[in-house]
Amino acid sequence: MEGVAQEGFFTRNLANTDQEIYQAIKDEGSRQNEKIEMIASENMVSRAVLEAQGAELTNKYAEGYPGARYYGGCAHVDVIESKAIERACELFGAEHANVQPHAGTPANLAVYYSMLKPGDAIMGMELAHGGHLSHGSPVNLSGKYFKVSTYGVSPKTNRIDMDEVRQTALREKPRMIIAGISAYPRIVDFSAFGEIAKECNAYLLADIAHIAGLVVAGLHPSPVPHSDFVTSTTHKTLRGPRGGLILCKNEYASSIDKAIFPGLQGGPLMHAIAAKAVAFKEAMTPAFVDYQKRIKENASTLAEELQSYGFDLVTGGTDNHMVLVDLRNKEITGKEAEETLEHVGITCNKNAVPYDPNPPRVTSGIRLGTSVVTTREMGKEEIRRIAYIIKEALENRRDDDKLEKLQKKVEDLCRAFPAVYR
Ligand SMILES: *Cc1c(COP(=O)(O)O)cnc(C)c1O
Repeated sequence: MEGVAQEGFFTRNLANTDQEIYQAIKDEGSRQNEKIEMIASENMVSRAVLEAQGAELTNKYAEGYPGARYYGGCAHVDVIESKAIERACELFGAEHANVQPHAGTPANLAVYYSMLKPGDAIMGMELAHGGHLSHGSPVNLSGKYFKVSTYGVSPKTNRIDMDEVRQTALREKPRMIIAGISAYPRIVDFSAFGEIAKECNAYLLADIAHIAGLVVAGLHPSPVPHSDFVTSTTHKTLRGPRGGLILCKNEYASSIDKAIFPGLQGGPLMHAIAAKAVAFKEAMTPAFVDYQKRIKENASTLAEELQSYGFDLVTGGTDNHMVLVDLRNKEITGKEAEETLEHVGITCNKNAVPYDPNPPRVTSGIRLGTSVVTTREMGKEEIRRIAYIIKEALENRRDDDKLEKLQKKVEDLCRAFPAVYR
């Protein structure tokens, strides 16, 4: 019996070795193909990105940076990480890039760790107004280790009020200001943030996790000239693997690199870094710019259509890839809306609207994003149909026959725009 456990180690595929996990992965693939995905923070990567992410690189330890590793055998991963860094710098016009952050949250924590001490003051956007957990929320390390002040959106316009940001900054004197959004459908004025940061002698961290693809395509002003640090995820509009990225000026390069390793992380995920490099190359193409334009057009169409059905949108529209629907006039909560839409095959998330009277587990809104449907090549006509399905579903949420018919419509749409990796 010796050696039996090893038999086929390098050749037997997952289907043959682990049915339970294999089947769940297949099922998830089918779900992605058969449902309309409107979670604004998700996307679908290319076959090429997926291939890189699944590669042999997962076997390699490469603590350190290209040319300066703590392990042998790093010649090839050095090529990969160097390419990823070079491409990230070119793509964003940045002086330095660190491509090792495992995700967006550790990228932010590394920036804090590089420049701040526990107890220092930071200022970020109120989570309930569209900010992110890692910008100082009390339940996140960023909220526990730092003295946090927040800015929000104006109750009149639901937009970030730069005068309020400035006043809060001058009063609270943060060492670092964080400009970035997770649920905000408008342009972020990074240039104004930059001026405020200068005026109160704070560092500016711009977090473009959601909008990186739009920034690359020139459809959202770039924060790079105005910020000390820029962080991003690579998996949202940028359409790469799940991961994080830090960009900074050369003067901060070594502090940032040290903060990631050995400060916060151990070995880099070289398979994820290879996939980031592939995604960055894709993002340099005219086709990617065109893709981002279509994401924005689709979001605008979605906004117009929903408004024509009497839905209230936070800020009355969108400048980016997302639409925030305020459901209060429709007398349905965010939670109910999310569940109803899931029932017909449209996946989205409930989301607080500014000054939301409902608790976070209920909320009064939903957030809808167009990155995934646009990756599937759906356009104006399909968005119109999706808006109609959303309206019909929410207005007839207790009518099971109606919901079943709508579910069929979703299936038809998905069948016409397949998203299947081969
Ligand atoms: C999604 C997001 C992140 C973090 O992403 P993870 O990869 O989930 O850690 C950080 N900042 C903003 C603004 C985000 O939207």
